Amino acid sequence: MQANPYITEDLQALADAARRFAQQRVAPGFLERDRSRELDRALLREMGSLGLILPELPEAFGGLGLGCLAAGVIHEEIARADLSFSYLNLLASLNGQILARYGEPGVVQPWLERLLAGEAICAIALTEPRGGSDAARLGLRVERDGDTYVINGEKTSISAADQADICVVFGRTGTPESGAHGVTALLVPMDAPGITTSRFDCHGQRAIGRGSIFFENVRVPVSHRLGDENRGFVQVMQGFDFSRSLIGLQCLAVARAALDETWSYITERQAFGQPLAAFQGVTHPLAAYDTEVEGARLLCLQGLWLKDRGLPHSAEAGMAKWWGPKLAYDVIHQCLLSHGHGGYDRGPMEQRLRDVLGFQIGDGTAQIMKTIIARTRAGRRFVPV
Ligand SMILES: Cc1cc2nc3c(=O)[nH]c(=O)nc-3n(C[C@H](O)[C@H](O)[C@H](O)COP(=O)(O)OP(=O)(O)OC[C@H]3O[C@@H](n4cnc5c(N)ncnc54)[C@H](O)[C@@H]3O)c2cc1C
Repeated sequence: MQANPYITEDLQALADAARRFAQQRVAPGFLERDRSRELDRALLREMGSLGLILPELPEAFGGLGLGCLAAGVIHEEIARADLSFSYLNLLASLNGQILARYGEPGVVQPWLERLLAGEAICAIALTEPRGGSDAARLGLRVERDGDTYVINGEKTSISAADQADICVVFGRTGTPESGAHGVTALLVPMDAPGITTSRFDCHGQRAIGRGSIFFENVRVPVSHRLGDENRGFVQVMQGFDFSRSLIGLQCLAVARAALDETWSYITERQAFGQPLAAFQGVTHPLAAYDTEVEGARLLCLQGLWLKDRGLPHSAEAGMAKWWGPKLAYDVIHQCLLSHGHGGYDRGPMEQRLRDVLGFQIGDGTAQIMKTIIARTRAGRRFVPV
């Protein structure tokens, strides 16, 4: 029997395979990667060799063409073991579809193959020191010089900034007043002369990390443009609806892992001569959160189901993106408290809490997501910002 209407038997089999890999290979290094702040490239290649990266990429590009729900179920299983490691799936899915849809085949195909194989990491650089929410006002300078673009300026708070091999970079080719209509997206190899990076000391998601990327007269051929000149923001940003549903699932999977462990823990831990599970003060908060996690997960799957059918899903994606990370944080917080002092020690619960918190900011805050939802409901005319 299907667990829910979105998860077919084939998808469940894929999820089971992903779970075996995640539990046997990814979970054991969860705590250590947080300490060392290093991604395991060999493990990434192993994940690629099993077909667990970018499963939705159409066959014409060398992918399996399994659809976005397939990406979602894999994403859940990897995140359940280690949210920071599953960031690699997220980056591959978000950037893979951008490259496939908007890139020049001769330029992007070799990179798509490397992403699929787990041999490359692609970052995405939108945020700048002056701010991230009002992204359409970005100012990184991109000037055309014959058949190359010259990039100058700084991107900041970029996930995997110092670990990525390539990066999708948004810069201004129009006038400073051109807003969303003067932005161009470029595929930039991170070993291009003139690029330097820094690494922040992050609260969570420490294996993937964040940092700044500095561009000093960095040149990329015009063939590296993604989409049309000055249309990068409008065209390429559409991919974010996909990643927002994935982020919801990613955080909820971590919450699910925390809940499962906590349900088990409270049947064993004793207080006042009984297991903790005998006290409604302990079980009712968990029961309420379990209900919400199930509901929020269905919303995320709905977003991916709509995308697979080419139907509008911006509102669902916005809902998944603000609710999933917020709910996951609250759930894990409760689970940590249910573990008493042990939950507060360095270990899985506190790391999960740190990891999911990042997604209340990264990829757009709750306020920005609610603005997107309001825009789809009331209309852009009434919700201009
Ligand atoms: C873990 C993590 C990973 C990230 N990864 C990347 C990445 O890979 N690539 C990338 O480009 N960026 C990345 N970012 C940056 C992220 O996208 C930005 O931090 C985010 O968009 C918010 O921008 P800001 O931090 O400049 O906040 P600001 O834009 O300065 O906003 C500050 C606060 O004001 C609120 N606010 C702003 N405008 C409004 C409004 N109109 N109405 C109501 N409230 C408003 C915001 O919600 C926020 O709470 C990442 C951030 C984090 C934390």
